[in-house]
Amino acid sequence: MIVDLSRLSGGRLKTGFTIAPDDPMLDGYGSQITEPIQLDVEVTNATGGMYVVTVNVLGSSVGSCRRCLEPVKVTIDDRFWVVYQQSKSADDEIGDADVIPIDPKATEIEIDEPVREWLFLERNRFPLCDKRCAGMCPQCGQNLNQKECDCERDETDERWGALSALRFDD
Ligand SMILES: [Zn+2]
Ligand SMILES: [Zn+2]
Repeated sequence: MIVDLSRLSGGRLKTGFTIAPDDPMLDGYGSQITEPIQLDVEVTNATGGMYVVTVNVLGSSVGSCRRCLEPVKVTIDDRFWVVYQQSKSADDEIGDADVIPIDPKATEIEIDEPVREWLFLERNRFPLCDKRCAGMCPQCGQNLNQKECDCERDETDERWGALSALRFDD
């Protein structure tokens, strides 16, 4: 995904990209991407040598509910921005880790890496199918949203149960 800086007019440029679900940059994403991810990109060059790239991300993925493990659709609808600053060499200290140095003669900016990084960092690892999801029975695996099972359920917290079991063992 390349932003062509020569297309800036009045210090602004709007462009867009689509990431296909099978794009190699999504390898290892961890949730299944089922539709293309849309990126609306706006570049502003307010002050000399500095480009602010704002990326609006729209898409969705399918993960597993953290309680009942059923598939759940997760919407991605967010925005982030990346700042690029022209510098004479890549070693130039810009003093801000969030600013990416680019060559002063650069006519384009490649945004694959920051986009990939953002997508992976912001991935919802623990989605919920519903705020009231009843989860699944730890004994028989029954999805308790669908029906109750016949397992005896201890009302005490599982973790304390494990502790007291230890205590009575010796
Ligand atoms: Zn659930
Ligand atoms: Zn059960």
